[in-house]
Amino acid sequence: MTIRDVKIEFQQKLATLYGAKEIQSIFSLVAEDLGFTPTSLVIHNEDELTETQQIHFFDCLKRLVSGEPVQYVRGKADFYDMQFCVNSSVLIPRPETEELVDRIINEQGNCNGNIIDLGTGSGCIAISLAKHIRSAKVSAVDISSAAINVAKQNAEKNNVHINFLLGDMQDSQCVTDEEYDIIVSNPPYVCNYEKQEMRPNVLQFEPHLALFVDTDENPLQFYIAIAKFAQLHLTEKGVIYCEINETLGNETAQMFQSYGFSNTQIIKDLFGKDRFVKATRS
Ligand code: GLN
Repeated sequence: MTIRDVKIEFQQKLATLYGAKEIQSIFSLVAEDLGFTPTSLVIHNEDELTETQQIHFFDCLKRLVSGEPVQYVRGKADFYDMQFCVNSSVLIPRPETEELVDRIINEQGNCNGNIIDLGTGSGCIAISLAKHIRSAKVSAVDISSAAINVAKQNAEKNNVHINFLLGDMQDSQCVTDEEYDIIVSNPPYVCNYEKQEMRPNVLQFEPHLALFVDTDENPLQFYIAIAKFAQLHLTEKGVIYCEINETLGNETAQMFQSYGFSNTQIIKDLFGKDRFVKATRS
C-alpha cells in the first residue's frame, strides 16, 4: 500500500463528513505526525508504506470516520502560532479566541502586573498571554483537574510559567485573594436550546462542561461570576476581557454595567458577530 492508496482511502471514507480540500489537509496533518512534509508526500507518493505507517494512517482514519475532530485524533492543536496538547477534557481552541488573545496582547503588551484566566481549559489563553506579555504574572483557574493537567503540560511545552489554580470560578473567594490588572475568560456560554444548530462533532466529542451553561434561564451565569470575581479582585484601573455568546452582547454588557463596570464595550469578531466584551470601572 502506497501514500497514494491511503490518500484515496481518506478521500472515500471521509467524503460524507468533509470537503475534498479539507480531507487533503487532514491527511497532511496525520502524515506530518509520521514525519512527512508536504514535499516528501509528493516525492514518496508511489512508495510502499511500512506496516507501522499503515497502522498509524488507518487508526487515525477510523477515529476520523467516527466524526472525531482531527485535533483530538492527533492530540494537538495550533493556536496563535503555538502548539497545544488537547484531549476530550478540553475544548479545541477556536480562531475567535485567537482574536481575543491578539487584542489583549496589542492593548496590554506592557502590563507588568497580574493577569488571571478564569476557566482556562487547555490553557491556550493564559499561555499565549504569558508568552507575549513577558513582564506579567499569569494565573489560570479551572474546575476540572483533567483540564489543569493538560494546561500544565502545555505551559511546559511552550516554556512559560503559569500559576495554576484548581477551583470553581463561580466561587469568587475560594481560589485566590490577590488582585489582578487583567481578568480574562472564555467561559461556557452555549445555551442548551442552541444544541440543534451545533455541528455533531462538537456535540459528540467536546466537553459539555466547557461549552454549556447549566440552565437556559440563566445564560449569563458565568459572566455574573466574572463580574463578582472582578468586584473583589480587579485593580482600580484593571480591565476585564471576555469571549461571549454572539446572541447576548447587549445583555452581557448591561450586566457588567449593573455590577459597577460602567465602561463596557461590545466587540465584533472577524465574522461580524458580537463576540467579546471589554469592561472597566470607568
Ligand atoms: N465558541 C465555542 C463553540 O461555538 C463555545 C466556546 C464556549 O462555550 N466558551 O462551540
